[in-house]
Amino acid sequence: MSVRLAIVVPCYNEEEVLPETTKRLLALLDRMAQQGLVSEGTGVYYVDDGSRDRTWSLIESLSRQDPRIHGLKLSRNRGHQAALMAGLMTVEGDALVSIDADLQDDVNVIEAMVREFIAGHEVVYGVRDSRATDTAFKRNTALAYYGLLRRMGVDLVHNHADFRLMGRRAIEALREYGEVNLFLRGVVPLIGYKATTVKYDRAERFAGVSKYPLRKMLAFALEGITSFSIVPLRLITMVGLLISVLSFAMIVFILYGTLVMKAVIPGWASSVVPIYFLGGIQLLSLGIIGEYVSKIYMETKRRPRYFIETQV
Ligand code: UDP
Ligand code: MG
Repeated sequence: MSVRLAIVVPCYNEEEVLPETTKRLLALLDRMAQQGLVSEGTGVYYVDDGSRDRTWSLIESLSRQDPRIHGLKLSRNRGHQAALMAGLMTVEGDALVSIDADLQDDVNVIEAMVREFIAGHEVVYGVRDSRATDTAFKRNTALAYYGLLRRMGVDLVHNHADFRLMGRRAIEALREYGEVNLFLRGVVPLIGYKATTVKYDRAERFAGVSKYPLRKMLAFALEGITSFSIVPLRLITMVGLLISVLSFAMIVFILYGTLVMKAVIPGWASSVVPIYFLGGIQLLSLGIIGEYVSKIYMETKRRPRYFIETQV
């Protein structure tokens, strides 16, 4: 059996890496074609996520040089997840692989993914064996974050980002998830079907700088929690309940002090401290509820996730 494979690569200002990425992906496709793993119509699909540099003209010229190279140009920058979704929803093929443009994920692992697909797996997750090349900060925050998500009941594949193969059935299932706020690595495990993992070593970015500054990363992290877990809301209820019980005990204690013991309480600390404390808790709670309300707001608008401007 040979597979019509499509490799979907989101690109945002990636002119420095695209020639090398193309070289490596085409070499891989050549090798897989020789082994009879991939069939006619197999190709690479770059999704230009509104780049400001020469990325799109580069994709156009690459596609002229090799018929296996294709490109989708989004109407503007919509972010990594939306760009990925645009590719996955548009491109045809028996199996679709998503991979970053910067060669941090080992392209040669795609061959193992295709073999797993042929063996009957509908989803194959690329899992990082070591993150030695990431900074200690990124490694540790990621570890803490994914631990937190798991404790909130979000089903995630450990050490997996967005490097994965999905079969046609999984892609069609993904189409049914209409959420505007996208956290693909949380959605895909919900689909089910037979899945497996393949391991690889994560390399350093081939060239250029990360398109995920801390600000974008924090927004994405919050997205992951509020899209998949209502635990934070439940936590507010618990804290509120606890504070109510404690305050009630305090009232009893104060009444006992004034009425029975006739002790004069100076009272400043005991009245001012709870005001600050409760004020803080209330603001925090409002903030968390606000996060979810804003999510509902955005989802009810049913805004389109992306527009494709041109295709080559
Ligand atoms: N990317 C994108 N749109 C964006 C930001 C990033 O399509 O708004 C792409 C980028 O070109 C790359 C992938 O998403 O192919 C991952 O980005 P990056 O490597 O910069 O993130 P990091 O690996 O540092 O988390
Ligand atoms: Mg990267």
